[in-house]
Amino acid sequence: MNNDLLFAEAKKHIPGGVNSPVRAFNSVGGTPVFINSAKGAYLFDEVGKSYIDFINSWGPMILGHANETVVAEVQKQLQSSLSFGAPTSLETAVAKLIKQLCPNVDLVRMVNSGTEACMSALRVARGFTGKNKFIKFEGNYHGHADPFLVKAGSGVASLGIHNVAGVTKGSAEDTLVAPYNNLQAVQDLITKHKGEIAAIILEPVAGNMGCIPPQNNFLQGLRSICNHENIVLIFDEVMTGFRLAKGGAQEVFGVDADLICYGKIIGGGMPVGAYGGKQHLMESVAPVGKVYQAGTLSGNPIAMRAGLTTLSILSADDSVYQHINTVTKTLEAGLQFAFGQKSIPVQINRVGSMISIHFSEHPIVDFESAANANNELFKKYFHFCLQYGVYLPPSPFETWFVSNAITQTEIDKTLSVTQAFVASL
Ligand code: PMP
Repeated sequence: MNNDLLFAEAKKHIPGGVNSPVRAFNSVGGTPVFINSAKGAYLFDEVGKSYIDFINSWGPMILGHANETVVAEVQKQLQSSLSFGAPTSLETAVAKLIKQLCPNVDLVRMVNSGTEACMSALRVARGFTGKNKFIKFEGNYHGHADPFLVKAGSGVASLGIHNVAGVTKGSAEDTLVAPYNNLQAVQDLITKHKGEIAAIILEPVAGNMGCIPPQNNFLQGLRSICNHENIVLIFDEVMTGFRLAKGGAQEVFGVDADLICYGKIIGGGMPVGAYGGKQHLMESVAPVGKVYQAGTLSGNPIAMRAGLTTLSILSADDSVYQHINTVTKTLEAGLQFAFGQKSIPVQINRVGSMISIHFSEHPIVDFESAANANNELFKKYFHFCLQYGVYLPPSPFETWFVSNAITQTEIDKTLSVTQAFVASL
């Protein structure tokens, strides 16, 4: 069956034919590609066409698809049953490795998704401080828990949904929103709500409005505001954790958060999230403290084995980071050159192996600048790439993720497709 037939069939049984909205291609139009398998840098669809993968399951597949070591370790683990719902030494091994890579994490709790990680970290901050309000940033996405679905970037922005139906006024009224990279706006909110703010949560490098780096000591500024005002600083490192460096954005920017949310890479492609941080905060989590949070499948042995193996490979030396950062830098330079040939206004933001393109004359520093880019041109570029076997995220509000399996060969192919696109304009 081709993609059109598969999509028509899926829509009869699954809302919009997909289990996560951005997969439906709504913001770029057309029919989503149904994937049958993947290996290394390539996805293969149901009719056997191959694509260079710049999504990598939205980040987790940092080693490339079906990495031999990860697959072998998971296969071994499968022989010992799929789930116990009881403690395992494997969970301790994962927690110890996370602590080794992220030295300011004293305790870590595994959950099943980034959404769970963020909603639990917020609950800890609220439980510990006894305060209700928190600040998030416009265009930052922290999963789909109610309090975060306010100006939430990513799929919500791609679909043009401004007020998420089903999120009650009550659950959103403690959510305060500031523009990304704007410390003054944060300071203003704090002055207005003095003593009421439990936490500030942010993506330390935003990846849900395309890739947007923190500017002008934004992270340092937030750290000192939080110190001064007794506010819990939460870094949502679901995308950046173990991707930008072994110690994530905290290591790259030299700023420590109080609580950190993880997901994606931490599960090596299995459904995993985690939150962790300072001892005194994490000890408010049940059964030690009164912040209740639980999960039937949390710390699932198959997921832990996939995550532990992936993290062990990443932590063995710096070679993966050197490779992915170098190829992404080459990609960035090549894209600049290709679009420059016809003077097409383009902003290419990159931090390590996260990169995105906005067609705009103006720097992309926050949600407003991202939303004002030429998204019609992005759609054309996306479909041109897809046609020629390069699979980009189907929205300008998503970052691309480069894997260790992408080599100069895949970069050359992507750049020649881009050159052909530019020539076609
Ligand atoms: N935080 C960030 C920064 C994310 O990018 C995402 C998902 N893309 C989430 C949280 C939610 O993670 P999940 O989809 O695993 O629930």
